[in-house]
Amino acid sequence: MKAAVFRSAAGGLQIEALPDPLPGPGELLLEVRKVGICGSELHAASFHAPERLEGALMGHEICGRVAALGEGVSDFALGDRVVPLPFIGCGQCAMCLTDLSRHCPQVDYQTVRGYCQYTRAAARGCVRVPEGISDEAATLVEPLAVGLQGVRRAALQAGERVLVTGAGPIGLAAAFWAQALGAAEVVVLARSDRRRRIAEQMGLPLFVAGNEVDDEIEMVQSLLGGAPDIVLEAVGLPGALEQAVNHVRPLGRVVSLGFGNQVDTLRPDLATWKDVSLAFSLCYGLRDFEHVVRVLAAGETRPLAMITSGIGLDQLPEAFAGLQAGGEDCKVIVSPWG
Ligand SMILES: [Zn+2]
Ligand SMILES: [Zn+2]
Repeated sequence: MKAAVFRSAAGGLQIEALPDPLPGPGELLLEVRKVGICGSELHAASFHAPERLEGALMGHEICGRVAALGEGVSDFALGDRVVPLPFIGCGQCAMCLTDLSRHCPQVDYQTVRGYCQYTRAAARGCVRVPEGISDEAATLVEPLAVGLQGVRRAALQAGERVLVTGAGPIGLAAAFWAQALGAAEVVVLARSDRRRRIAEQMGLPLFVAGNEVDDEIEMVQSLLGGAPDIVLEAVGLPGALEQAVNHVRPLGRVVSLGFGNQVDTLRPDLATWKDVSLAFSLCYGLRDFEHVVRVLAAGETRPLAMITSGIGLDQLPEAFAGLQAGGEDCKVIVSPWG
């Protein structure tokens, strides 16, 4: 099969021929229909020990079609479309039994890979994609589930005021769910206004471009009608935690989704004076995938505004490098078959 393999921080991705994977017991072989490029992969390939990725295949925002069934699989059929969790646990420990398999002592992140034409995936980590959802829309299940889990982590109550910092796909996804799950108002605060239109198309009209206002705290409070009860941080750069603490109301909650991998500083006394609760959220379980699929199947199309381009696998190395250099695209969807 054709694959885009990460060679080095300097060399980036390279198109290579690899043997087709074979499904093991309990696994599906998926033909990768579409795969999204994720910001976490761009970060990992740029800053976070890229040498550990050498020779690796990436890609975890996948919509696949079942091309073969491993031994013992009975609940899927050839041709079914699915979205696979990018990790799988043992299925039997306390973490796995409570849908927290990411924290399973035996969690495996190695099986599911999307920057190629075929991948293996554990059948019990796959959610079926109904007819009405396009392959492209299905690739958004993973990033939307990251945002959904962040909002759940914040324990949003109906009528609360929410600020989301950062307007990448994860910030936009979190803002989308905060709005959908009952926030009174949601403000998206970004560095510039380049994502304003996408936010509007996602049903998020309250957008602040930090470079256009003198006092962002005052602007956010005037739009929300007060300081935010919850700040969802989706910036991931040094200073983002302090920015969130500065915005949140006394006794408010900050949930960090930014996955920053550089050293950050935060003056604890500023958070202490406000009695702020600070939590971190990485990702989801199977029930989040199922909920996102249900919402998309019910006809929700606004998140598709995040998709700004579609490319073939051959164009992936160039597109990946372009995004690493800070290109304009929001979500780029790759078709491994052309
Ligand atoms: Zn992702
Ligand atoms: Zn387990």
